Amino acid sequence: MDKNTVISDDKNYIASTYARFNIVVKEGHGSIITDADGKQYIDCATGIGVNAFGINDEEWKKAVVGQINKIQHVCNLYYAEPQAELAKLLCEKTGAKKVFFGNSGAEANECAIKTARKYSDMKYGGGRYEIITLKNSFHGRTIATLSATGQDGFHKYFSPFLEGFRYAEPTMDGIIKQYTDKTCAVMIEVIQGESGVNVLDGEFLKELEKFCKERDILLIVDEVQTGNGRTGYMYSYEAFGLHPDIVTTAKALGGGLPIGACMLFDKCENTLNFGDHGSTFGGNPVACAGAISIVRRIDSKLLLEVQGKGAYFKENLSRIKNVINVSGMGLMIGIETTKPAREVAQACLERGVIVLTAHTKVRLLPPLIIKKNEIDEALKILNEVISK
Ligand SMILES: *Cc1c(COP(=O)(O)O)cnc(C)c1O
Repeated sequence: MDKNTVISDDKNYIASTYARFNIVVKEGHGSIITDADGKQYIDCATGIGVNAFGINDEEWKKAVVGQINKIQHVCNLYYAEPQAELAKLLCEKTGAKKVFFGNSGAEANECAIKTARKYSDMKYGGGRYEIITLKNSFHGRTIATLSATGQDGFHKYFSPFLEGFRYAEPTMDGIIKQYTDKTCAVMIEVIQGESGVNVLDGEFLKELEKFCKERDILLIVDEVQTGNGRTGYMYSYEAFGLHPDIVTTAKALGGGLPIGACMLFDKCENTLNFGDHGSTFGGNPVACAGAISIVRRIDSKLLLEVQGKGAYFKENLSRIKNVINVSGMGLMIGIETTKPAREVAQACLERGVIVLTAHTKVRLLPPLIIKKNEIDEALKILNEVISK
């Protein structure tokens, strides 16, 4: 199929929910993507933080194909090794006690919302069901996770949304204003990705944790985008010394296959019971086998490299003319410039670098394994585009 047929079939037959850039992605290797015309790009998007170990990652492919050659799906009425092994690995890495597997970030967050509500219901009886989320947060596209998302722009057309969410400014005053005797949880992204790579204030986070502990309010951290090495930490809450009660993750976890995980720590270890939750595809053995190969490789050496590469990126980006501000942690970077982000992204694409946007900012989520010369080439093109 030639490029124009792909684009016209897509426009004719796929629901128009995405503002696609005008390239047809064909294949890739490491940090390089090749389109249908044979043009190459440096990938600073990783399919929104998914292909964190690059494209055509040999170890991941071996794990996935190895599992496909055994069995492609096991329903959750039976035991299977990859799911058990991945759950154990995640618990060992984080101190979580139990894991529930779904297929996406939104599903991981749905599980977190259900768990928080049930925890409170079991302990305090019904009615204590409110969850405080933050302004400018993003938690997913299902009705519950849209309801949790603290942005008016997402609260159109689909009413009624789920009740029980209150949106706070990311300050203690903001939290206290939204806190009521019905509050059962606070859900945060430590670094707000979709809304512009906004890193929350460390002191606020520590105070929030204390506030929650004192009131038996569960602290839920959404690590869907920030997780699995992206920020130079296994999970970004570690950088702030937090001890959440629930952590959700997805995107990079599966290395390219759909998977979401909701990790339950001490307090809610036994909250979910038979029949409380489930998923046909959740914990699919192929996705889990791939995820094991990803999680195993996120060690202290890799994390230090990510921190180093992130610092290098940031330092060089902040020197570019017309750059107002560079935010983020590790290889999750937001760039505020004097130009519209979409225009910068389009111009970068034309010159051979794929970047993302996040509200008014340019967002970079390059592969964790990106090489120095690839970073330099990406910086050169970003410089040309932004400083012009
Ligand atoms: C992407 C994202 C989600 C939603 O994940 P899906 O896999 O698209 O459902 C939720 N929370 C955060 C912070 C995200 O970045």
